[in-house]
Parts: sequence; structure tokens; C-alpha cells
Amino acid sequence: MLFTWVPPLGHHIIRQSVKSWICLLVAIAIVIALPFILQPLLSGIVTDEELDLWIPAHFGFIITCFTALFVLYEILVYLHYRKVWIGGEEGEAPIIKRLASRALLRHTPRTLFYPRAKTNVAAMPSLFSGHFISFYGESFKILNERETEVVIAHEVAHLKHMDRVSALVLVTTGIIFSVYFSALIVACVASIILQADPAQGEILLKASWVVLALQIVHSYIKCAHSRTREYLADAGSIALAGLDFKVDLISALKKLEEHHWGRGPNRLAFLWPEFLRTHPRISNRAKALGLDASKIVI
Ligand SMILES: [Zn+2]
Repeated sequence: MLFTWVPPLGHHIIRQSVKSWICLLVAIAIVIALPFILQPLLSGIVTDEELDLWIPAHFGFIITCFTALFVLYEILVYLHYRKVWIGGEEGEAPIIKRLASRALLRHTPRTLFYPRAKTNVAAMPSLFSGHFISFYGESFKILNERETEVVIAHEVAHLKHMDRVSALVLVTTGIIFSVYFSALIVACVASIILQADPAQGEILLKASWVVLALQIVHSYIKCAHSRTREYLADAGSIALAGLDFKVDLISALKKLEEHHWGRGPNRLAFLWPEFLRTHPRISNRAKALGLDASKIVI
């Protein structure tokens, strides 16, 4: 999206956009190719004629899964958000309105507050219910005015980039792997129980391991994709709020992370390796903006 463009961050934005598209396309390609990957393994069980039927059924299944998930998401958003208290008439609402119009969002997001939840801020888009920006836990108390503004800008960027759509696509592809894996395991157990050809059970088991391996690779791709979207939302927040908000973004992220995880045993979460993270380390997010996170005191 054009509004994300910030000249000093140009290379970073292009790199993350390319990475993001590669991750998304590779994840989709692996799922589309599943019958072609599995057919040679299942050649003793699935004939060429059956493969001809399998491919269109596989495509139909992918489209059905995505549509069902999308509809389910919209229903859940509608059922959940129509009940909760919608606040922010003063305070956050004018900032959201200003940033949403700067981002040329068609609908201004509404604000929601969940004081009893773990500290976080998140955007929830919906085609039918409108967009929402939710403040969880202490988030609306611990951030100062500038930090609140840039965090809202980050969430508006997520909405503008339609990050929920690609996230739903990747959830769908993940579900398809799980369905294939479960079906192969069930078929394997059934062939053992029915005492069919013992080689058949072995083939099915081998195929299920291949699907499991692909599913693990898919999870890494999903995390990598999510991290690129975070980097792009950070750049988007700077594009919307202004270059001088870089430090405020990092200090806000530090505050939110500290209040979300606390200083107790959950501190272990900080040791979680980068490739398994859906959100990049704050030090890396700061580096991408040309800052040193360790020098930003909260
Ligand atoms: Zn984010």
C-alpha cells in the first residue's frame, strides 16, 4: 500500500513486502501441490484415474475451507463484538478517526476495552461488522499520548494492509494439512484393524509423516509471514503518525511486552527463537527503524 511508503525505510519495506508475498505463495503452493506430492507415495493405493478425480476435489476442498473459515470468522466477530462495550468516545476515538482518514480506510474502527484481559492491543477487521481496535488489560493506562497514537497507527496499518485476509488464508492451509494428516492416520489405523494388505498401512503411515513434515515447514512459513506483516505495520505506523514517532513506537512495544508477559516465569517467552515467533523481537523491530532498543528507556 502506498501510504506505507516512508523514503528512509524504502529498502526495508520492499524487502519485507517481497518476503511476505514469497511466504504466502509458497504456503499456498505447497497445499495446492499436496496431491502431486502424495500420489507417488500412494501409487500402490491411488491410481492415475483416481488422481484425476482427486485434484479437482482437492481444489474444491481448499475453496470450501477458506469460504467456511471466512464466514465463521465474520459470524464470530458479529456475535462477540455486538455484546461488548464499545467505548472511546473521548481519548482514543479522535486519534483513530484522524489516522483512519489519513489511511483512507472506508470505515473508522471502533474502540473496545477489555480491562481484565492480558495487556495487548489488536485490530479486528470485519466486512460486515466494521473494524475494531481492542485495548486489552492495562494497555490504555500504561501508554502515553504519543505511544497510544503510534500503536493505533500500527493497528490501522494492519487494517489497511488487510493482514487478516492473508492470516485467514494461512490458517486455512494449516487446517488442510491437519485434515490430510488425520485422514491418513485414520486410513492407516483402519487398514491395520481390517487386516488389509500390511504394505498399505506402511504406505499410509509414510505419507502421513510427509504431510506432518510439510505441516511443520508450513508453520515456520506462517510465522515468517506474520513477522513480515508486523514489520510492514511498523513502517505503516510511521507513515501515518510521522517519522518522529519511531522512538514512541519502540517504547510502546516495550511497555506492552513487559505488561503482557510480566517479569515472572513467562520471561522465558523472551528466549523463544525468532523463527518460531509471529512477532519479531523488539530489538529487531527497532533495528529496522534505525534505532537501538536497548537505549530506549521506558
Ligand atoms: Zn501488529
